[in-house]
Amino acid sequence: MRDQLTEWMPGTIHELSSSPMSRFPEINAATIARYEQPGPRYTSYPTVPEWNPRFGPAEYADKLCEASREGSSSPLSLYFHLPFCRHMCAFCGCNVVVTRDSTKADEYLTHLELELALAAERLGKRREISQLHLGGGTPTFLNEAQLSRLWRAIRTHFAVRNDAELAVEVNPVVTTSRHLTLLRSFGFNRLSMGVQDFDRDVQQAIERNQSFELTAGMVAEARSIGFRGINLDLVYGLPLQTQSKWARTLRRIVDIRPDRIAVYSFAFVPNLKPHQKRLPIDKLPHGEAKLSLFRSAYNAFVEAGYQAIGMDHFALPEDELAGRRTHGLSGAIFRVTPSRQPPMSLPLASPESATSRAPMPRTFDRCLSTTGPSRLGGSQRSAAFCSRMMTAAAAR
Ligand code: SF4
Repeated sequence: MRDQLTEWMPGTIHELSSSPMSRFPEINAATIARYEQPGPRYTSYPTVPEWNPRFGPAEYADKLCEASREGSSSPLSLYFHLPFCRHMCAFCGCNVVVTRDSTKADEYLTHLELELALAAERLGKRREISQLHLGGGTPTFLNEAQLSRLWRAIRTHFAVRNDAELAVEVNPVVTTSRHLTLLRSFGFNRLSMGVQDFDRDVQQAIERNQSFELTAGMVAEARSIGFRGINLDLVYGLPLQTQSKWARTLRRIVDIRPDRIAVYSFAFVPNLKPHQKRLPIDKLPHGEAKLSLFRSAYNAFVEAGYQAIGMDHFALPEDELAGRRTHGLSGAIFRVTPSRQPPMSLPLASPESATSRAPMPRTFDRCLSTTGPSRLGGSQRSAAFCSRMMTAAAAR
C-alpha cells in the first residue's frame, strides 16, 4: 500500500533492528539531526529511486518467464492493490483513487483479470500460492459480488494452497460483517487494520475518524469467525500527537492485543501528495519530539510482551513473524510483511507499476488495443504495463 514517497527514516533505528532491546535507547540531538532527512522507503526493494525506464513491459514479461523456468514448482506470494477509497484522509501517502462510484471497481476488475491472465501465462498455469495479500486503498470498497469476482479470477489462474496465508486490509468504517464472513469463507485468515491514532484531535486533523469501539469491535468479530492473525497499524509524527495522548492510544492498542503491530513514521511529502497541505503543518512533531513517540511505542509494546522485529514491527511471541526474527526479516512488499519467506512475490495492479517512470501510452484505449484478450498470446505488452493503465483508467 505504498507509493513513490520519501520519508524520514531514523537510521539509528535501522542499525539497531538486528539486535532487539528491552528498552529503546536515548539518542542524542546530533544523531537525530544527522538522520532526520528524507530517504527512500525501505518497504519495497529495490527502493523506488532505483527504478528506471530501462525496465519496461518487455523486460518484466521476460523476468516472469525466467522465473517460471527457474522455479516452476515453487509457491508464489501475490499482492493485489485495490486503490479505491471513499474519502482521502489528509495524511495518506498511498496510491489511492477517491470515488463513491462502485462501478469503478468493476472496470478495474476487468483489467485485473486481464493482468492475472497475462501473468499466469508467463508463470505457468495454476501456479501454487502460499501467500496472498489484498491491499489498498480499501479492499472492502469492493462489494461482495466484486470480491467474489476477484476471488474467482485468482482461483482460475492460481492454485491456493490449503495452508496459504491470506491477508486483507480492512477499514472498519466501510467494512461490514458480510464482508468479513465472505472473506473468511474464501479462506482469508489474516486481517490488517489502519488505526494511526485513537486520539480525537489527531483524527480530526488527519481527517480520519475511527473510534476505539469500532476498531475493537471489528477485531473481536474477526476473531470470532476464525481470523487468526490480526495486525494494527499506527503512525507516529502526525499533527497534534503528544506524549500523553499517544500513551493513551498505546494502552488501548495493548488492550485489543493484536497479534502484530506496525508503527510507521509519518512521511510529510506535500510535493508528491498535495492533499497533505490540508494538515495543520505547524502542529507536526519533529526531531526528538517525533522520535520520542516511537520510543514510547517501542517500550510500551515490549513491556506488554511483544517482540520488536525489524524497524517498526512488533509481534506476540507465538506469532509466526516473531519466529522469523531469528532468521532475519526479509520479503516485505510495501506494507506487507509476510510470516514466511516465499520464493517469489508478485505485485498485481500494484503501486510499483502504477508509479513506474517507464513511458506510458497516451490513452487507456491504446492499452486495451495492445493488451486485449484477443492478443494475449502474441502481445509483447506486460502485466505491469496494463497495471499502469488500470490505475489511470480508474482515476479518470
Ligand atoms: S483509508 Fe487508508 S488508503 Fe484510503 S485514503 Fe485513508 S489512509 Fe489512504
